[in-house]
Amino acid sequence: MSASLIDGKARAAALRAAVTTAVSDLKAASGVTPGLAVVLVGDDPASQVYVANKVRQTAECGMRSIEHRLPADTPEAELMALIAHLNADSEVDGILVQMPLPGHIDTDRVVMAIDPAKDVDGLHPANAGRIVLGKPGLVPCTPQGCVILAREARGGDLSGLDVVVLGRSILVGKPVALLLQNANCTVTMAHSRTRDIPELCRRADILVAAVGRPEMVRGDWIKPGATVIDVGINRVPAPDKGEGKTRLVGDVAFEEAKTVAGAITPVPGGVGPMTIACLLANTVVAACRRRDLVVPQM
Ligand code: NAP
Repeated sequence: MSASLIDGKARAAALRAAVTTAVSDLKAASGVTPGLAVVLVGDDPASQVYVANKVRQTAECGMRSIEHRLPADTPEAELMALIAHLNADSEVDGILVQMPLPGHIDTDRVVMAIDPAKDVDGLHPANAGRIVLGKPGLVPCTPQGCVILAREARGGDLSGLDVVVLGRSILVGKPVALLLQNANCTVTMAHSRTRDIPELCRRADILVAAVGRPEMVRGDWIKPGATVIDVGINRVPAPDKGEGKTRLVGDVAFEEAKTVAGAITPVPGGVGPMTIACLLANTVVAACRRRDLVVPQM
């Protein structure tokens, strides 16, 4: 058996197209142009690439893109003052502070300072709490992308399915487990202290791997026909490509897994592209909710 590929690139492109239409409709009906402010502190090369992509895609969807680049030695108080300014700016609907922040800045304090109504990364405890309560809020982007892809693979309804989520981080594992529970799945979360993870995984109709361990999940851990969502992004040496070269792999041994699974996300090209698309969708959601407008279907 060979699994079908869950094409995150294509799904993300479709979501961006829906966001573009929603933005255009919003402008026409209410004169509102959603605005996303992205704040980058320091010059981490990976963060610079992420921010450049976010800024470009925000503009491509017809939204207002506001970019703030601060030097690495920016005092925490200065960053907090900028966030207060963005919170108060009525033209800004979403605020994203690119992580990781330099070591002298308290990340938790920064996240707490963002107005929960503009927290398009879904990291503020008010939004995390809304997921726990099953109430509408701003949902973290990567977990949201995982659920969209799982629905895509399963034809929409996930009710009653057995799910195993590997990883319990605040960024990925916990929210994805809660979102899938809210979608009426029966969810088991596993982590570094869990006993017999392979056996646990073999019961999963949907397996979400978010551990950051290259190719940890082997083919014989997977239930035949299962949906595998691989969140991991790991850079490993690739001597076959030449001296010092590397390649990206997920947390799942893809070549083994694809012979057993029913559907699987590739790495790259699976969950990764969904993250920015969900950020853009969240900005439209925030723009509508802040003005008591109906949130469009995207
Ligand atoms: P993290 O904060 O390091 O959390 C890793 C989780 O995996 C922890 O809960 C840890 O358990 C668990 N774990 C680690 N080793 C394990 C093992 N051998 N067996 C079982 N559980 C184990 O990582 P994260 O931020 O959640 O990210 C996970 C992966 O997703 C990384 O590869 C990251 O690069 C990737 N990621 C991708 C995207 C995207 O857009 N596609 C976005 C975010 C993250 P304990 O809690 O017990 O320590």
